[in-house]
Amino acid sequence: MKIIIHGGFFSESGTNQETKKAKQDALSAIVSQSHTYLQSHTALETVIYAVSLLEDNELFNAGLGSQIQSDGKVRLSASLMDGKSQKFSGVINIENVRNPIQVAKQLLNYDDKVLSGGGALDFARDHGFDFFDSVIPQRQQEYEQKLAQSTRIGTVGCVALDADGNLAAATSTGGKGFEIPCRVSDSATVAGNFANEYAGISCTGVGEDIVSTALAAKIVTRVTDGFTLKEASDKSFAELKTFDGFAGIIGISSKGEVYHTDSHPYMVWAAFDGSLQVFN
Ligand code: ASP
Repeated sequence: MKIIIHGGFFSESGTNQETKKAKQDALSAIVSQSHTYLQSHTALETVIYAVSLLEDNELFNAGLGSQIQSDGKVRLSASLMDGKSQKFSGVINIENVRNPIQVAKQLLNYDDKVLSGGGALDFARDHGFDFFDSVIPQRQQEYEQKLAQSTRIGTVGCVALDADGNLAAATSTGGKGFEIPCRVSDSATVAGNFANEYAGISCTGVGEDIVSTALAAKIVTRVTDGFTLKEASDKSFAELKTFDGFAGIIGISSKGEVYHTDSHPYMVWAAFDGSLQVFN
């Protein structure tokens, strides 16, 4: 059983040492709690659990404390992929719900598995998700000062491998901040979040770059075709570099390989891979 989580690519920009430590502590506590949860739950249940905890923590750009789009509204995107059933579900630009990953969980049971905007919100309300305002004073202040570009904070994600050898991945984001209203993030696409029986990947970084190279799906496909997780990631990142793409990933393979990018100092992650590891 293995688990890795991330707190996004931009987590350190514009933050002080105190905030950095708070993020490390939060990731460390959440990965430990989620690892315990994984002992008696599936990979799918665990990635939903871990990402919900990350969404509830205002230090990260997902759920509570998310970035605000250029029209002053928060729109959230999240997705889920069950490696065992190969089912993907997600919400794009949903407003006023607390845990978008929980809405994605509900959608996994439906034929129509990815919903956006008003349709996603109607679906959530029909399924008992109450109104929730995810704006925190700090994000509002940043928005008002038009400082979002220099205070970006991270998307969140989780990949888990359970006792039965099944993999799942989940990713949730408040987006880039100050984007054109309703811009579509990679986080609720197979470019930003993908899993099958061989590997699971969750991405962070510039959504447009991640989509351009179909990053998560490509890495998982390469592992499926026999690459190690590291080889698959290295080759895919070399391709990303050809157009100066900007991304970070976490991943686990069915062989138990645990991988995270370390080429950039700003992606924070934590893993339980035999023992607790935390890094940013
Ligand atoms: N990938 C996210 C997006 O482009 C942003 C991030 O990872 O911080 O919406």
